[in-house]
Amino acid sequence: PTLAYDDDNIFAKILRGEIPSTRVYEDEWAYAFEDINPQAEVHTLVIPKGRYVSWDDFSARAEAKEIAGFVRAVGKVARDKGLVETGYRMMANIGAHGGQEVAHLHVHLFGGEPLGPMIA
Ligand code: 5GP
Repeated sequence: PTLAYDDDNIFAKILRGEIPSTRVYEDEWAYAFEDINPQAEVHTLVIPKGRYVSWDDFSARAEAKEIAGFVRAVGKVARDKGLVETGYRMMANIGAHGGQEVAHLHVHLFGGEPLGPMIA
């Protein structure tokens, strides 16, 4: 069963403007902002605007246009951040075993330096 979406999660508050964030990109489908505790030279988060907890939740419930919009936004942020030439990492932590801390789907974009085999 899909975890219920909690409207009080931190990223919901960021989307509503109740918590400040450093905006990188925004469109109808997605919002991108700098991670507050960066783990690499570039560490940007991209979230869908809809109320989705995880990738499995999003992929099951979102309309095709939402999925397309979000996927395109992640790619645009990677390009705009200059990550394409050098390469980068995208990651989503899901659920307890994935170490997900914020229960609104988010993709991490890491780059700006060689990243090694994995970021914890
Ligand atoms: P998770 O472990 O859920 O994949 O990652 C959550 C990420 O959100 C962490 O990298 C953490 O630094 C970041 N984060 C948590 N709270 C805030 C916040 O209030 N603002 C921003 N910009 N990032 C946050």
